[in-house]
Amino acid sequence: MTKKIFKGILFTALVTMLACLVFIIGVQYQFYSEAQTDALKSEAYLIERSLENGTAPESFNSFEKRITIISADGTVIYDNKSDINGMKNHSDRKEVAEALKKGIGSDVRYSESVGKYTSYYAVFLKNGNILRVAGDGTNLITVLLRLMPPICAIILLTAALALTLASVVTKNILKPINEIDPENPEQAKAYDELSPLLNKLRYQKNKINKQISQLTQSRLELEILSENMSEGMLLTDKNGIILTYNKSIERLFGEQTKLSGKNLLYLNRSKVFLEIFDSIIGACHNELLFSDGNRWLELITNPVNDENGAHKGAVVLIIDVTERQERERLRREFTANVSHELKTPLTSILGFSDILKEGLVSPEDVKGFSADINRETKRLITLVNDIINLSRLDEGVIGTDREPVELLSVAREVTERLTIVASEQHISLNTCGQEAVILANPSLIFEMIYNLCDNAVKYNRENGSVTVTVGLCEENPFISVKDTGIGIPKEAQPRIFERFYRVDKSRSNTRGGTGLGLSIVKHIASVTGGTISLESSPDVGTEITVTFGIC
Ligand code: ADP
Repeated sequence: MTKKIFKGILFTALVTMLACLVFIIGVQYQFYSEAQTDALKSEAYLIERSLENGTAPESFNSFEKRITIISADGTVIYDNKSDINGMKNHSDRKEVAEALKKGIGSDVRYSESVGKYTSYYAVFLKNGNILRVAGDGTNLITVLLRLMPPICAIILLTAALALTLASVVTKNILKPINEIDPENPEQAKAYDELSPLLNKLRYQKNKINKQISQLTQSRLELEILSENMSEGMLLTDKNGIILTYNKSIERLFGEQTKLSGKNLLYLNRSKVFLEIFDSIIGACHNELLFSDGNRWLELITNPVNDENGAHKGAVVLIIDVTERQERERLRREFTANVSHELKTPLTSILGFSDILKEGLVSPEDVKGFSADINRETKRLITLVNDIINLSRLDEGVIGTDREPVELLSVAREVTERLTIVASEQHISLNTCGQEAVILANPSLIFEMIYNLCDNAVKYNRENGSVTVTVGLCEENPFISVKDTGIGIPKEAQPRIFERFYRVDKSRSNTRGGTGLGLSIVKHIASVTGGTISLESSPDVGTEITVTFGIC
């Protein structure tokens, strides 16, 4: 635009300058011609006067101007510069013909007689002849040649001036336009003619800003949504090339160098990923489970189509379902264990009752068989109760209601309950320490302490002891149950809180154990915010401590 305006201004200036020059040259030419004619006219007038006063034509021989006297028929009578003999008839000369007709005549033309441009002025004399005075003629070239130096100087000067002015004017014209800030067109102090353009610009800017903020808002919303998803999400094109992905993908597959632009199989080349990849290419939905040995991932792919239904890519969701799978495994294991544990006492009861029914038992043995049935039934009831308690704890049905529970008094209640069983084995039960209050469900706390003390008695030896200590450890209430029993081997210690795990199954069975007591303890401790610690040495004893938070 700058160049165009500059060229336009320069062209206009130069054309104007040339037009002026032509005009000036024309005026100059006119001026010179008229001045010459006027000079010839005054000279002719003087010579005419002289001739009329009787001066002989020869007295003009030395005149600078060419003086010619022509008779009315065109014959040259006198010429001070040329030999009249052999001179052509001059009646056809324009100035002569005009003088004959009108009394005076003039012309400017190339003279073959003198060989140059000549200006002529002719006057009709009273004696019937024609006097013609001729001098150097002014033609355009002569004028041009005469004016050449000033013209050249003018051309150069005006060209330089035009260049400078064009540059300055161009800059001045463009300055307000260049100063328009597209971000704030309303602040521009440009020409009125630009107002419609600026208004359009302002409108477009507002529209673009609105669209940008809408886009940013949607992008932010999508980003917040995808970044806060625990599921890994990635978007691929129809060839399985990753276009975008969320943070959870990095969490699931480790911080990778940029995944965008890479193939989905870059993450993993297992059979499951290959199948998902095929589903992306084939634009179909698929759900598969993948395990790398440590964890389980669920992969779900859904095709993405545009508004015309053309396949554009796919969304792949990757969910860590390790916990779910683990829960599922535990549930299956639990169900199998429950069936097995229920079957054992029931089979015994059935066996004993069958023998009794068939009358195969001597009267003195009936009491013993009845005691066996009674023991197995009790075990069955304990087992069913434990299972019910565990499933209630699992479901969170109990344990949510809390009230202050004083641990020392509960411990005393429990030891009292177990006194008879303990005394049968000559085990002493002691409770010591200070009062400590926690916020919990009282019956759950009773069950927890009962299970711990029951185990301490169950897995004790004759004349052993059980000490229950309640107190505060750095203001945290705790209860510890210490026995002098058989202890737990090191390798079994991490497993004793598992459901149905028993170090010595036969010992547990004969003591009416279910293998669920410590699982229930662990569960209750967890719902009441307690942590369990275990110290045990085989043949020395066991101490299990539950420490609660400050209430
Ligand atoms: P059980 O009903 O068999 O007692 P628990 O879940 O209460 O089941 O305990 C799991 C296993 O841990 C027991 O079978 C036993 O082998 C071991 N155990 C628990 N408490 C003690 C303890 N105080 N001394 C020795 N072993 C124990």
